Amino acid sequence: MAELEGLEFGKSDFVLLDEVTMEQFMENLKLRFEKGRIYTYIGEVVVSVNPYRQMDIYGKETIEAYRGRELYENPPHLYAVSDAAYKAMKRRAKDTCIVISGESGAGKTEASKYIMQYIAAITNPGQRAEVESVKNVLLKSNCVLEAFGNAKTNRNDNSSRFGKYMDINFNFNGDPTGGHINNYLLEKSRVVHQQDGERNFHSFYQLLRGGSEEMLQLLHLQGDPAAYAFTREGAAAATSNNDRQNHKAVMSALEVIGFSNQEITSIYQILASILLLGNIQFEEDGESSLLYRTVATGGGEVIEKGHTEQDACFGREAFAKALYERLFAWIVSRINSVIEVKNYNPVLHGKNTVIGVLDIYGFEIFDNNSFEQFCINYCNEKLQQLFIELILQQEQSEYQREGITWQHIDYFNNQIIVDLVEQPHKGIISILDEACLTVGKVTDTVCLESMNTKLGQHPHYTSRKLSPTDKTMDFQKHFRIRHYAGDVTYSVEGFLDKNKDLLFQDFKRLMYNSANPVLKEMWPDGQLGITEVTKRPLTAATLFKNSIVALVDKLACKEPYYVRCIKPNEMKSPVLFDDARCQHQVAYLGLLENVMVRRAGFAYRQLYSRFLQRYKMTCEYTWPNHLMASDRDAVEAIITQHGFQDDVAFGHTKLFVRTPRSLFTLEQERAALI
Ligand code: ADP
Ligand code: MG
Repeated sequence: MAELEGLEFGKSDFVLLDEVTMEQFMENLKLRFEKGRIYTYIGEVVVSVNPYRQMDIYGKETIEAYRGRELYENPPHLYAVSDAAYKAMKRRAKDTCIVISGESGAGKTEASKYIMQYIAAITNPGQRAEVESVKNVLLKSNCVLEAFGNAKTNRNDNSSRFGKYMDINFNFNGDPTGGHINNYLLEKSRVVHQQDGERNFHSFYQLLRGGSEEMLQLLHLQGDPAAYAFTREGAAAATSNNDRQNHKAVMSALEVIGFSNQEITSIYQILASILLLGNIQFEEDGESSLLYRTVATGGGEVIEKGHTEQDACFGREAFAKALYERLFAWIVSRINSVIEVKNYNPVLHGKNTVIGVLDIYGFEIFDNNSFEQFCINYCNEKLQQLFIELILQQEQSEYQREGITWQHIDYFNNQIIVDLVEQPHKGIISILDEACLTVGKVTDTVCLESMNTKLGQHPHYTSRKLSPTDKTMDFQKHFRIRHYAGDVTYSVEGFLDKNKDLLFQDFKRLMYNSANPVLKEMWPDGQLGITEVTKRPLTAATLFKNSIVALVDKLACKEPYYVRCIKPNEMKSPVLFDDARCQHQVAYLGLLENVMVRRAGFAYRQLYSRFLQRYKMTCEYTWPNHLMASDRDAVEAIITQHGFQDDVAFGHTKLFVRTPRSLFTLEQERAALI
């Protein structure tokens, strides 16, 4: 809140704008970006603009400057909210979380790494070995997860293709004692196919380009991504990733984390088999599960069913995707087993508190939007819903706690869109699931018709049938959701297959019966005999929905801190501020509403003691020390002397200030005096 940087850098908190208009908001955001000030607050929310260049603001001295300080004592920074989250956790024994949102390439993952580095830097001053080792694993896990879960896309050379939520556990000393990672919806379709200019997951190129000759030989691989169908398309893609060097880093990270040699070899064997699977062509006869499958008939009889070439290709791709997905999930669970809090005894050790860090895909609006975008955008609706609830709730409950009257402000509540997607029996996911359960030929188009019939009245749903004049949609293919972040037209092609996520049982059994214990561990469901598998597995959409609902529950019981990331342009340029693109993001992130909510009540609040400490020199009755009955009375004296009574409210422990004007005056006076 304090204007520590001078006004030539713009306002460091959007609540300080003269008027809350889009124009002023954008002007301030742009000015700050151009001046190299990439962070700006809305109260305690950090708005961050990707600088697309190395900034000299993450070093040791900066960390020291933010350590233990209050938000307003330094220029806006990720470190300040990280510290706020940490302090709340430590001083008040509160579980907190830092939610990072924004679209692909906006800087979420980089932000999450800086946050973790900050927390690692300020904890464990005594350098206790077991704490250091937990910190080390937490930091190193990023490198491994990025290798296996990130890929070059057209938007971001290092795009996370999964959502990540990491809990860091702390003991009563405030030192990290462990952690847990949850991963969400890995984009496994990328294993078998990538769009023009994009790549498969980094791990494949790292292995092929960085693996030693010995290793490649062992795996029967040639060190050339162009030799494999699954990596061929991306082999030539220009990228800033150094695959060879990163391979080394990943190998060493795996060791540091505690993967055994056998486990590391198994990981690379699985990668190799996926690459080799991709090169199989179906011409010759063979005795593999790729060419036929066993199925149980209704009567419990087991028969063998030959595959058409199409079946075989489908089976092969589904198998490759599943192998990779399970490998990724297994790596995450292995990391979790290393960092889980062990020997924890609440009586001995006191309350175990948590800081959660969420780095999850933002809204996606592509030219062609499929099932994955549908899931991702639903997830963002849920998080937006949480943001609205928490930010407003938080304001309200603070006013209540402090005994101050609160006036309600209107905002768009996106619950209606959340319902459109997830409502039992009526929502899109239910309709999809129903179509997947129906025996017989239910096509994507038939499913679309069912949605049109059931959702025709919904204000946020439309399709060509419902708006016949809209030529941008196809009768057979498209439906459109009016999301809070904008309209997205989805193509239903492939929706049912992706939702069913079918994998022939034979593959599972084959893997479970592998002599390799690591592989076996990844496929526990391959244990079931052919006639035992009667229950239908949950669909992909339902599994995803369940995981997001669980995530929201986890976040909702923590004190939230928000980082809202903005991507300044599509060219990865450090100097270009694309006004239209930025404004669009500001609009859908609801940032203007956020400023209004913050200002509708009280833009600024501070504990009496803190306020006094900062401004006591501006009043004769409080300098150098006051003789009044309480800090509250002393603060009242400062306010009265300046004539700001109408602009403030006195809470039980805090002073609430409505507009920034009075604070400006105080800040200026203070600056003149010190
Ligand atoms: P997201 O996770 O939102 O998709 P990333 O965090 O991967 O985006 O950021 C994309 C790229 O932008 C990074 O690889 C990096 O080059 C650049 N970048 C993002 N944040 C910063 C930052 N704070 N400083 C410098 N470069 C950054
Ligand atoms: Mg990312």
